[in-house]
Amino acid sequence: MRKDTPMRGIILKKIQLPKLIDDLIKRHKVYAPIEKDGITCYDEIRSSSQVTPNFQSKLSSKDVLFPKCEILFSYQLKGKDIKLEDPQPKEETTVLMGIPPCEARAFTRIDKAFSGDFEDSSYLRRRENTIIIGKACEHPQQTCFCTSVGDGPFGKEGVDLLLQDLGSRYLLEAVSAKGEKLIKELHDYDNATHEDLQDAQQIANAAKESIKTQLMLQGIEEKLKTMFDDPIWNTIYLKCAGCGVCTYLCPTCYCFDIVDEASGSKGKRVRVWDSCQFSLFTLQGSGENPRPTGKARMRQRIMHKFEYFPKNFDTLACVGCGRCIRECPVNLDIRNILKMISIK
Ligand code: SF4
Ligand code: SF4
Repeated sequence: MRKDTPMRGIILKKIQLPKLIDDLIKRHKVYAPIEKDGITCYDEIRSSSQVTPNFQSKLSSKDVLFPKCEILFSYQLKGKDIKLEDPQPKEETTVLMGIPPCEARAFTRIDKAFSGDFEDSSYLRRRENTIIIGKACEHPQQTCFCTSVGDGPFGKEGVDLLLQDLGSRYLLEAVSAKGEKLIKELHDYDNATHEDLQDAQQIANAAKESIKTQLMLQGIEEKLKTMFDDPIWNTIYLKCAGCGVCTYLCPTCYCFDIVDEASGSKGKRVRVWDSCQFSLFTLQGSGENPRPTGKARMRQRIMHKFEYFPKNFDTLACVGCGRCIRECPVNLDIRNILKMISIK
């Protein structure tokens, strides 16, 4: 048993991880990557046995905090009165487990967009009640480029706790006050030692070095300011099919549409994800479309992530997760676009 002293990390034998997850499920709502309908994605789990090997997921965890489709409110007309109903679930602590560090960082980007002049209360309420347990990437994929956009495969920005695979054991390290609080609920585990932390650092260094893509993105915001009419936009969009997969999978993309659905005296207002890569995204009621071409839409995607967002929030809106590269049906690689911009 660990001593009752202030601590920031515990060590788990490999066989203890399922028990830890099952203990968390007894106390909290827990989301983790599972296989569902033939695809790996994040969902609420009832047992540790549902979790995918090594927490792998094709889809990002974005929709746990920012659902694809969400009722903002529903209403019912009664004579001259309107009864509004807030469908938000009761506030309860949710544990989001096993997300890679890049995705945790992505939530810090969405936080900025949803907590500015106009607060997105439904997102912020979920965010406040969620504890994020990240899972370090000991073996980054060939498409990862997180080190070029500000952090690494063991990055701690945005996580409350970080689970690290040390080969023979796991290190679970608290990073935030929320993480400290959760770790105090977990008994029967040993405190991490200096040696454990050193081992973790070595594995983190090796993981970082294994990422071969190194993009030169310093000053990209300033460069893009002068590139709105640059000829590169004439070609880079050509093979894009406009399917929107890149934006739906992207953990930092947060565009949405609002739809009102009415039936008789009842109705609801629904928020659904949208994509700047769709031709209807900016179509106005008058028939005017300020971004009528694939070229304009691709430029918008890149400009938003690397110029407009940094201008507003002082950080890039890309965390280098590589999802848009892995899943694009026509192999359009954002790293190639960034390389073309960097040599301009
Ligand atoms: S996933 Fe590829 S083809 Fe689809 S919109 Fe994005 S860049 Fe275009
Ligand atoms: S690599 Fe692609 S999917 Fe990942 S954060 Fe950047 S733009 Fe989004």
